[in-house]
Amino acid sequence: MREDIWKFAGVLLIALVIGILTHHVLLLLLLGTGLCLLHQQRNLYRLRRWLQNREKHRPPDARGLLAEVCREIDYRFEHHQSRKQTLSTYLKRFQEAASALPDGTIVLGEAGEIEWANDAARRYLGVRWPQDARQRIANLIRHPQLPSLLEAHSGATQALEIPSPVHPDMRLSLFTVPYGSTQRLFIARDVTKLYRLNRMRSDFIANASHELRTPLTVINGYLETLEEDQGQWPEASRSSFTQMRRQTERMRNLINDLLLLSALEHDEAVPSPELVRVPEMLSAIYMEANALSGAREHIFYLEADPKLWIMGNYNELYSAFSNLVINAVQYTPGKGIIRIRWYADNEGAHMHVSDTGIGIPESHRLRITERFYRVDKGRSRESGGTGLGLAIVKHVLARHNASLHIESTPGKGSTFRCDFPPATIAQGDAQPGLSSSA
Ligand code: ADP
Repeated sequence: MREDIWKFAGVLLIALVIGILTHHVLLLLLLGTGLCLLHQQRNLYRLRRWLQNREKHRPPDARGLLAEVCREIDYRFEHHQSRKQTLSTYLKRFQEAASALPDGTIVLGEAGEIEWANDAARRYLGVRWPQDARQRIANLIRHPQLPSLLEAHSGATQALEIPSPVHPDMRLSLFTVPYGSTQRLFIARDVTKLYRLNRMRSDFIANASHELRTPLTVINGYLETLEEDQGQWPEASRSSFTQMRRQTERMRNLINDLLLLSALEHDEAVPSPELVRVPEMLSAIYMEANALSGAREHIFYLEADPKLWIMGNYNELYSAFSNLVINAVQYTPGKGIIRIRWYADNEGAHMHVSDTGIGIPESHRLRITERFYRVDKGRSRESGGTGLGLAIVKHVLARHNASLHIESTPGKGSTFRCDFPPATIAQGDAQPGLSSSA
């Protein structure tokens, strides 16, 4: 910098001296300044040329400030080059590692566009890299539930299981893992073996249940006839027949529940949703529960929004809701209160069943939706429970994109709440209010 000032001052001094000698001071000072500016301009021009093509051109042959600027640029450029080299080495390593992954792996940008994909993604999903670069994944893989998988930005999303778009026999589990500020890894895992194994298991249960149903119906028929002719039999035999009938009834319920559960497992969504008039359904369940309560004289309340209908499967929802209400009757001592509510808010439609029954200890709460899990096996069997009711409820709700929430205080009662997303709601015609108690 100082060097530049001295140089400029030197030129002006020479111009001044020559100006005094020639009596043209102003003209020569202007000439000196112009010369300095011209020199700077030429250096700037060479600097620009050098920055545009460092290979072909040399930096300006200057000293002072410009030389310092050139040195700084040179240093930063070298630094940048070495960082670029390191980053591209890392990127190459990441791509090599991700290419070797057995899972189909796709890097998605903020809008779900493809930024990179490995070879397994081509084999499993038909996504080709680099041909499909910047394409939206939802345009390449068509599935009704894919948008909600992509919209969920948290890693806690449930995996989506679909048949492979390339090989219909292959079953894929899709899930996303967020990383960076906006990017996501979209992973497709081959779960065909697990799927087939599960299918074999549920087919086996369905077939076995089916085969057991016919002989059981025959036995039940004979027992009914024997019971009808009670007069012919001694007292001891009569009570044996009643016991046998009760047990075959239990077995029939168990088989029906097993068949329903395996049917629910076969598809993950309701095949063709229909309009379900839930308030009417709840009225029927309410009557059923009243009859079941009988001499125990439970007090029932039913509050249902008469216009609130949903899209779904009538039989499945009936089975789920009646399981919850029947459980409330079975696990609530006589004269206890059972309240059924059906209403909607901003978060969707909700069905509540609360009771003032025995409640569920905290340690069991997470497991009671598992098949055959009971808090008190003896009590459940005594009340004719199959141990499959809540497993059916959970499956039915999952097929309707709904979820089950349980709150309970042992000794005080329980509340089972089914939450349906707003998308399932279909508003019905106004009807007289359905609100009753008994
Ligand atoms: P079960 O046929 O035994 O009733 P479920 O799957 O319907 O089978 O319920 C599983 C278990 O959850 C029951 O055995 C019971 O211990 C508990 N349970 C379910 N509903 C209630 C309730 N309303 N109050 C107390 N316990 C309940």
